[in-house]
Amino acid sequence: MVNYSPQYVNKFSCLGSKCPETCCHGMTIDIDKETHSKYQKIKIEGITNIPNLLQKKDNPTEKHFSSIKSRKDGYCSFLGNDGLCSIQKKYGEDFLSHTCYTFPRKNINFKENKLVTLSVSCPEAARLCLSNKNSMEIYEDKFYKKKKFNLVSEKFETPFANTGNLIINKVYQLLQNEKISYLNSLVIFNKLLEEQLNISQNSKQFDEIYKFFYENFCDIDIIAFDNSNLKILFLTDIFNIIDQIKLKHTCSNFYTQKLISLIENSYLELVGRFDNIDYAIENLKKINQEYFCRFEQKNNHIFRNFFLNEILGYAHILTNPNSFLKYNFYMSIFLATVSKIILLGICSKENREPTLEDFVNIINSVERSNQIFFHHDKNFKMLFNIDILKFYDKIDKKSLFNSSLLVFG
Ligand code: SF4
Repeated sequence: MVNYSPQYVNKFSCLGSKCPETCCHGMTIDIDKETHSKYQKIKIEGITNIPNLLQKKDNPTEKHFSSIKSRKDGYCSFLGNDGLCSIQKKYGEDFLSHTCYTFPRKNINFKENKLVTLSVSCPEAARLCLSNKNSMEIYEDKFYKKKKFNLVSEKFETPFANTGNLIINKVYQLLQNEKISYLNSLVIFNKLLEEQLNISQNSKQFDEIYKFFYENFCDIDIIAFDNSNLKILFLTDIFNIIDQIKLKHTCSNFYTQKLISLIENSYLELVGRFDNIDYAIENLKKINQEYFCRFEQKNNHIFRNFFLNEILGYAHILTNPNSFLKYNFYMSIFLATVSKIILLGICSKENREPTLEDFVNIINSVERSNQIFFHHDKNFKMLFNIDILKFYDKIDKKSLFNSSLLVFG
């Protein structure tokens, strides 16, 4: 088996008790069935009635059987005063649930090979992934830098999966190429995703079809108009959705509250303080050009790295024909949009360009609490909040990709 991973994954080392956040603060930690049974019998000094700390799921599965109840301050019930996990401390790493053992790693096991990325909801992973231009260079077994990689082997896989392997290599090259705008790269990637089933019927056509998309979309102006009004409408809708979320949930979790207040502050700065929406649109246009675009020109690897890390993190969408999985991609564009809007709010309020640190912190916060925008159905499929879908429907009813990109770009 070959392990593929971006360069930054190999540099990652958990900050442990020095971490400003700790993995389990503000997160829902799912426990698999086997770990759930093991935890019925453990005894830890200072923690009483352990079985009661595990909340069985409404529709338990082997992998998502129960979840750990958080303390009132949002920390995991098993986190010790020293900032370390008391289960790991007493019983060792092997006793941890799959979620705790692997976080922040996202391992995708294909039949022969494995792809490992990290979730940017870990602050150290976010810093490593986003702050360096070369972070996303792919390595084989940690040591060998690769220009191409094989997630699946032609001999053993379906035509669909083999086409997916060709697509992931193309998106890797596109998003690593600074000469092509990453928005154009995302459009080409989406076109390939839409056509994947057709291409897989005759994979010899792949190069020709790719060339067609590349030539038609690599250097066109994807957002050929000022979309500040769409961003203002998006922020207004998200602000209203947040209000409903606050009514429904207690939101005692520190990170959820932090994200909610970032969005509220951005709303007040970019929309709420203006009597007339035209002034809000004018202000956003100015801030975007003066601060945000300038910063992005100097640091254009950030969103490239973000999207590439996201796409590699759900690369199974390219080998599994379930079209529903493509929603992961639209969700990434949504999360990037929320991050961008919050950063624009900070630029407007403080009359300055964003910093790399701002980017890392905001993307980390948005990823960490992204569950407020999505929910799982009983099969653990991630779904958009219905009001977010209604908003995107107003832009382009037929394409969630077009709608989300038009607002983000
Ligand atoms: S959030 Fe990341 S750095 Fe912090 S404790 Fe967890 S894995 Fe380590």
